[in-house]
Amino acid sequence: MKQPIIFCDFDGTITKSDNIVSLMKRFAPKEWEQIKDDVLAQNLSIREGVGRMFHLIPSNLKQELLDYLVATTEIRQGFSEFVDYTRHEGIELYIVSGGIDFFVYPLLKPFGIPEENIFCNGSDFTTDTISITWPYACGDDCTKDCGCCKPGILNRFDKKANRKIVIGDSITDLEASKEADFVFARDYLAEKCQELGIPAVLFETFDDIVEKLTEEREENHVPSGESMERTC
Ligand code: MG
Ligand code: ZN
Repeated sequence: MKQPIIFCDFDGTITKSDNIVSLMKRFAPKEWEQIKDDVLAQNLSIREGVGRMFHLIPSNLKQELLDYLVATTEIRQGFSEFVDYTRHEGIELYIVSGGIDFFVYPLLKPFGIPEENIFCNGSDFTTDTISITWPYACGDDCTKDCGCCKPGILNRFDKKANRKIVIGDSITDLEASKEADFVFARDYLAEKCQELGIPAVLFETFDDIVEKLTEEREENHVPSGESMERTC
């Protein structure tokens, strides 16, 4: 039987709003809005747009940016229980994020997800303004200039051995959703999946996701972690 692996988006999925947008609204000069509009209109790639936006912010604000997000970011209902659930059931959980390391790691710290399971963009604060680095940029098989190439990350995992489950909310999750065996979607991603005929289950909280995963495992008679512990 295929091993389920979960690939979960961060901004707008684990957190209730988009952290890059919150930072720009609070710290960037208003030029950021034009860059955002160009990205949305697909005149600029996500990688180019995000890189340019962060170059609008001085590097010496690093701590302030982080403090601001720690104070304001809300985590979606049920996330902590969801992480516990995957651990308990032995389901591998990866976070695939177009966010930036300097806020993704600290915001995820309370949940005990190993850093090697977190894929996101990097940052360099040694330059005058913030430089973003791209450790998971697109390979030859992707022309979208994603920044953090989610389909590229999914393709690192064997299709035959794994059942790939994507959880996400927006445009950056769409290409990954096309590669997935199962999709949990909300917001823009939900609309897009519907439009393109990609089967997706809607979710609003992580409780919804745990419920659906539990149901499925029961249908497939997969013993839960708990019952395995009991028999051991
Ligand atoms: Mg998102
Ligand atoms: Zn890509």
